[in-house]
Amino acid sequence: MKLMVFTDLDGTLLDHDSYSHAPARPALEALAALEIPLILASSKTAREIAPLHAELALAPCPIIAENGAQMVTPGTEAAEDRSAYRKIRAALERMPAELRSCFTGFGDMDRQGVIEATGLDPQSAGLAQARCHSEPGLWSGTEEGFARFADLLGQEGISSRRGGRFATLSFGATKADRMRELIAAHAPDHTIALGDAPNDIEMIETASHGVIVRNTHGPGLPPLDGERAGTVRRTQAPGPQGWNEAVLDILEELELHRRAD
Ligand SMILES: [Mg+2]
Repeated sequence: MKLMVFTDLDGTLLDHDSYSHAPARPALEALAALEIPLILASSKTAREIAPLHAELALAPCPIIAENGAQMVTPGTEAAEDRSAYRKIRAALERMPAELRSCFTGFGDMDRQGVIEATGLDPQSAGLAQARCHSEPGLWSGTEEGFARFADLLGQEGISSRRGGRFATLSFGATKADRMRELIAAHAPDHTIALGDAPNDIEMIETASHGVIVRNTHGPGLPPLDGERAGTVRRTQAPGPQGWNEAVLDILEELELHRRAD
């Protein structure tokens, strides 16, 4: 296998506000024509990612869901096990009140709250609430408070990862863990990983070609070592526009594809 591509969704392949991937279409079509696997990796649930996976005709590629806590191939899922999710919710209720009150998880919101927090339509918001392994939420406290919150949850084996919009709580496995599993299984010559937020850093650093997609809404990413070494680049354009440019550039550099223009 020549190349595998791993991508975050919100703020990366999907526009932060509209959730559209339309500006990335030229690069998506190039990948499809070259039969290069595209792995969607997100903090979203598997059920939430499945419609996009189907729309982009990505079968039989698996998807990395709930920030890496789950990897499934749509259409082959076993029965949903929500025990990990219930443990995370129970741990939240044991947090000191002043920290607990700064975190509003999807489990604290009703459907309307999720719609307002995410901008999703009602059906997608329902799928976003069907969680098995992780709890995303909004943090309204200070950065110091978040560090304490993350530390206390860490003592219960729960990791806290910041995305472009939400902090996601889960037990262990990251997007990059799943990425490494797939690389070990398929041994591609090259890998591309694209992301916009701290929970994408390991994935970006694991790839032979890492891409930091510009997102002006989130905390952004600090300079990464790979940027100096030349293995990591930043896009000028945000979201799917930046995604499109970076993927087409790398395909040209790898001499896999030439732009039509
Ligand atoms: Mg993102």
